[in-house]
Amino acid sequence: MTDLYELIRNVPDFPRPGIQFKDITPLLRHPAGLALAVELLANPFRGRNIDIVVGAESRGFIFGTALAQALSAGFVPIRKPKKLPADKVSITYDLEYGTDTLEIHRDAIRAGEKCLLVDDLLATGGTMEACCGLVEKLGGQILGIAVLIELQFLNARNKFNRYEMHSVLKY
Ligand code: AMP
Repeated sequence: MTDLYELIRNVPDFPRPGIQFKDITPLLRHPAGLALAVELLANPFRGRNIDIVVGAESRGFIFGTALAQALSAGFVPIRKPKKLPADKVSITYDLEYGTDTLEIHRDAIRAGEKCLLVDDLLATGGTMEACCGLVEKLGGQILGIAVLIELQFLNARNKFNRYEMHSVLKY
């Protein structure tokens, strides 16, 4: 079977000294690896009647649409400021230095819809917390979170105790 760990390239000191960047592009260009990654992301959530898969710009889009198709769900993008054209809801969250903002269309999720949030990688969990906040502002019900890679040494999982957290590859 394809070893997904072998398809993740570790790039030291990118984008800053001390960061070990997990580069998913070798996995994305590998047909069997890509298919397996999407299958393993989807498996715990099959038969759970997920309405909407939600993914944040930009690597959340890559797995998000594939995962939505695998689960016969729709896909909703969360975007960086000033990208979405229609009426939207914003959330601002803290980074190591400064803050960042993410946005979602106000009509993208209806109250009570069952949502699955996805991203390529969970590091400190700040991005995912902000995404959860946006979905909940719209009344979406978060059934779970699926990430391809979890950096377990950062302990972000603790921030998501109230949700089902699924990661495929753990470091
Ligand atoms: P965080 O908000 O700290 O959980 O960071 C998550 C976001 O930053 C994800 O969308 C990742 O794509 C990106 N990211 C953070 N750390 C890394 C890393 N070591 N390698 C690759 N991407 C990362």
